[in-house]
Amino acid sequence: MPMEVRVRDVKRWVGRRIAVPLDGEWPPALQELAEWPLVSPPSGQVVVDNGGDFLAVALSGEAAVEAECGRCLRPVRLSVPFALRQEYREVEPGFEDEWLAYRQDVIGLDDLVTEAVLLALPVRPLCRPDCRGLCPTCGEDLNDGPCGCAPPQDQRWSALAGWRAIEAKKPEEKPEEDS
Ligand SMILES: [Zn+2]
Ligand SMILES: [Zn+2]
Repeated sequence: MPMEVRVRDVKRWVGRRIAVPLDGEWPPALQELAEWPLVSPPSGQVVVDNGGDFLAVALSGEAAVEAECGRCLRPVRLSVPFALRQEYREVEPGFEDEWLAYRQDVIGLDDLVTEAVLLALPVRPLCRPDCRGLCPTCGEDLNDGPCGCAPPQDQRWSALAGWRAIEAKKPEEKPEEDS
């Protein structure tokens, strides 16, 4: 069932507003494009304002996704609040279909919901802000305690040490020989 909002009432008077719960199933395109599976039914609100020659649709809601911690790779359930606003104009039946157009008292919300949730998904979620991640040497989860490897060096210094080692290996430039 596509997500949509009925606007028969709100489109009659300029300045009129309706607020209805976000209803339906997550759009198939969103389920496909989202990096992690959505694990909650849609919940939220749709507010439609009659702005004269357009209707402004404001979405807000929350999705839950089953993601993976960017450091320790454990599964983590995230709540993703989303919000997006878009204006729509009515077109006569028979006209070419446009994304921001609607006809016959119904505005389809699948595209807007898809965009809103994709924009709200975190790029690198963490199971908790101070997640210790995995040991780069043995791969053990450091949230369970120290792994027994040597304490990690400061990354900046180890990078510098590596660079020095490379420099040291470079062959000396030979001075040009006189002929
Ligand atoms: Zn983690
Ligand atoms: Zn280790």
